[in-house]
Amino acid sequence: MALPVATPRALPPLLRYVDHNLMQNVSAHNRPPHPNATCPVCFLQWDSSPMVTVAAASSLRTTPKATSVIISTFLPLSPCRHWVHYSCLIWLATQTTSDHKDRCPVCHIQLFEWEGITALTLATRTDLELQDQQKDGFFHPISHVYTPSDRTAYETECTLIDSLIAHFFFAQLNQPSRFVDLSPDLLRPAAKWLSWTTQTGFLLLGMLIAIKMRRFLLEGHKGIVSTESWKEFDEGVKALQKRIMDEVHQP
Ligand SMILES: [Zn+2]
Ligand SMILES: [Zn+2]
Repeated sequence: MALPVATPRALPPLLRYVDHNLMQNVSAHNRPPHPNATCPVCFLQWDSSPMVTVAAASSLRTTPKATSVIISTFLPLSPCRHWVHYSCLIWLATQTTSDHKDRCPVCHIQLFEWEGITALTLATRTDLELQDQQKDGFFHPISHVYTPSDRTAYETECTLIDSLIAHFFFAQLNQPSRFVDLSPDLLRPAAKWLSWTTQTGFLLLGMLIAIKMRRFLLEGHKGIVSTESWKEFDEGVKALQKRIMDEVHQP
């Protein structure tokens, strides 16, 4: 059997790091080497409530529910074994403009690949808010709506996505249904050629959309190939491609 070629340590994506590397290691949780260990983010003893204190210590507008006191899991980071509250680690990841959002708060080793969508997902799950970076303001390139901050940019783009979904949904309502109760297909193209039933199929649909986007750009806007944005797009497509390969070849 061929062994995989050794490559430099690739950092796990944020979600895999939290849900797989940290949270699966349950036997290590809440068992710090010293019973009075403190968290390096909120500076509190590990078995007191960090949710309230993070907000207080950083004077950020996080809004922990006053009625629910959450004592967050205290866990060792991988690979450096420094201890931190789960919610304090997620809070660090919500600091979108910080150079330390993907690093251990003690030794500053980079822990994971940070990405906004994952940080947003984890923050929502942990009842935290993403840091809203106030900028000088700019006009959104697609909607031409003035966006004074990350939050408004996010909300504008969500509105755009919402309108595309609504358009797709109402178009589906006019298609014949394959369900007994005549409900419309959700997230499923009507074309047999585009139908999917597995996660791999869903990723392949994403790949098809990426390929179409690539062709649209290459045919009509060739100048983009020499730009940084193209490089980034291309890397995104390759990452998706890798995801599909992993999906296909995972043991
Ligand atoms: Zn903490
Ligand atoms: Zn560390």
